[in-house]
Amino acid sequence: MTSPQTKRKILTYPNPYLREEAQAVERFDENLKALFEEMCFLMHESEGVGLAATQVGESLQLLVLSSYVFLSEEERKQVTESEDGDMGEDLAIINPKVLEQSEDELIDFEGCLSFPDVYIKVKRPSWVVITAQDIEGNPIELRGEGFGARAILHEMDHLNGKVMTDHLSFLAKQKALKDHQRIQKRLAKKRAEENGSSAQNQTSKVNKTKSSHAKSKKGSSKAKKGQKKKR
Ligand SMILES: [Zn+2]
Repeated sequence: MTSPQTKRKILTYPNPYLREEAQAVERFDENLKALFEEMCFLMHESEGVGLAATQVGESLQLLVLSSYVFLSEEERKQVTESEDGDMGEDLAIINPKVLEQSEDELIDFEGCLSFPDVYIKVKRPSWVVITAQDIEGNPIELRGEGFGARAILHEMDHLNGKVMTDHLSFLAKQKALKDHQRIQKRLAKKRAEENGSSAQNQTSKVNKTKSSHAKSKKGSSKAKKGQKKKR
């Protein structure tokens, strides 16, 4: 994992940035690489397997996907169940475009780092082929099937200002958003309690460090393994 010096954080729904249509990436420079690294860090910190730049407030057509999403169901199960499961490498997917997708669709659960702890059933094409560019600007082609297709299309939605609940019927959407609000309240309360106790612990420190958000996540990685993966 790279340096935890993050300037950005993952935005939660209904942050207006999540409705932004991302601009095409034109400059493949050090800033882009730094943003990619930071997104990888934030994604792993929250135990996600995919993250779009719009989710961290950057209007750029840049996605991060863990190569984990391209494993078979059996392989994913092995990674999730093993003590120190290898999530594989993090892929930068830039300026993606759908080249071809299946007409048949699959319904399965989806999670999203912008809707922590909310899982809903979404219908997606069973496979997709996309063209994109890597972090150096080289053209790439990617094929995703099942979970992989779901992950690619979920993230590409983010670049178009679309979120997973947009796929739901009116009633299912109302329920999901209500769940989300309830969970957000619970998480805010938990954070406030943690901030309160960490503020007491830090009173002797002269230099105040950044928010304790990153710290509060420490030690939770094992406990949460086996949960459905968020994007
Ligand atoms: Zn998402």
